[in-house]
Amino acid sequence: MKNMKDLLNFRKPGQYIGHEWNVVEKKLTQDMAKVCVCFPEGYDLGMSILGLRILYGLFNQDPAIFCDRAFLPQDDYQGYLREHAQRHSSVQCAVPLSDFDLLGFTLNYELNYVHFLKMLSLSGIPLRSAQRDKPVVGIGGCANPLVVSDFIDFCFLGEVEAAPAEFMEAVRALPRLSKQDFLDRIAGLPGVYVPARAQQYPLHTVYARTLDPSLYPVDWLVPYVGIVHDRAYVEVARGCPRTCAFCQARCMYYPYRERPAEQVISLVRKIYEKTGYEDISLLSLSVSDYSGIEPVLKELISSLGKYGVKISLPSLRATDVAGSLSSLVSQIKKSGLTIAVETVSEPLRQKICKPIDHQALYASLENALAAGYRHLKFYFMLGLPGETLEDVDLMMDFIRQTNRFLTQRNRSIEISVNFSHFIPKPFSALENETMQPYETLKAKTAHVYQSLKAQRNIHISVASCAESTVEGVLSRGDARLGSLLEYFLIENVPLSQQHVDFSQWEAACNKNSIDYGAYIYEKKNAHAWDIFKR
Ligand code: SF4
Repeated sequence: MKNMKDLLNFRKPGQYIGHEWNVVEKKLTQDMAKVCVCFPEGYDLGMSILGLRILYGLFNQDPAIFCDRAFLPQDDYQGYLREHAQRHSSVQCAVPLSDFDLLGFTLNYELNYVHFLKMLSLSGIPLRSAQRDKPVVGIGGCANPLVVSDFIDFCFLGEVEAAPAEFMEAVRALPRLSKQDFLDRIAGLPGVYVPARAQQYPLHTVYARTLDPSLYPVDWLVPYVGIVHDRAYVEVARGCPRTCAFCQARCMYYPYRERPAEQVISLVRKIYEKTGYEDISLLSLSVSDYSGIEPVLKELISSLGKYGVKISLPSLRATDVAGSLSSLVSQIKKSGLTIAVETVSEPLRQKICKPIDHQALYASLENALAAGYRHLKFYFMLGLPGETLEDVDLMMDFIRQTNRFLTQRNRSIEISVNFSHFIPKPFSALENETMQPYETLKAKTAHVYQSLKAQRNIHISVASCAESTVEGVLSRGDARLGSLLEYFLIENVPLSQQHVDFSQWEAACNKNSIDYGAYIYEKKNAHAWDIFKR
């Protein structure tokens, strides 16, 4: 449906109309390969994902490829599609997803797996790979694709900028190939996992040796509706030079690579010229480790500041607001400062390879206040291997003490304290560890709220224990969990952020004879995902 008047019946109709500023307008011809990059969440989140923008730009650079985008529609629009037996279609050209040659999903979060199936189902596309020909369904951004292996035709392991030439040739040839011929051509290529073909394991991830500026999406799409991150961003580095043992992102984007400072400055200028965005972020997993941060900030503040452009550094750490950087930081847009403490007990810190010097940390907090930060965001992790209630109490003491320290210096400071749960993610250094039981996490959560209830000025947020447990299972799972995903889709049981009901989850596992505890509570030294090498 692309009748503008009808769209007014839906929430946020602007998300369905396409034609954003800088959109690629290509004439679709018979011999072009039709590719749709898809994200299994709404437009507002999907348009905030850098990887999706890179893919869109990269495919569209190729004259033989026509590339559009698709997102999960909102509930009201989904209902309309079902009621009127219409197929879900792409944003820009309203082509039904079932008419594309290739659908490329970014599956970077396990709780989106059911949404991925929902997008296929809303498009009338058979879910299981064995039951369909075209479109070919590929995924990327996924550390362990085994859970969805019966639904996908291939998974791209690594970074698309490093895709072998033969892969792109096969994509170009798609209009003339059957799915089986296409899979025969790509199986065995570096970075390509085809579940339905015998392959030589382990399969290695491919990565770009340098970050090529010509592949960066400077033709930045500017949406007509508000999105989660409504700004432009320039990736200054990929990977992370640190070694936190629980971290999967570091392993997914290994090794650490930086863009030269001149390249970052030039990309920011180009994006500003093409979008007019006055809010531009410098992005990386750990932006303060970027060696060019000072010259880049100096140059951008002096050349773009006069036009009202604000530069922000979303992942800046408190310990970095010191020395010459602090005077620069006082001139940039401050979205809040991140202080990822994770844990306070020394043995646990050693286990996660994250030493923190308390004296230096408090000195940094003073610097942050002096630099004008008024919102400090602390991050902790509950449920690390071996963590006891005494360890949690040490954390609570630290939070109370830090709160006193900060409010004595500035009574209006905003402090938020966020708790996540440890998940032994595949490929992280702690992948052989186990999760703490759901009931233990619940008890620790209650203990946190009870211990901090007198700290009224602090905003506390604890991740859902149900969501973390399910995320743990799906991240460490295998193909046996595929039937569970189908069950959730058919029964319309919500399995997405903020919506996981643990009793429903347990009942579904029982019905499908899944022992979910085997994936997260049993210590193992070998794993199904060992067939992939990161
Ligand atoms: S947690 Fe952050 S700082 Fe630590 S390795 Fe991962 S990305 Fe780097």
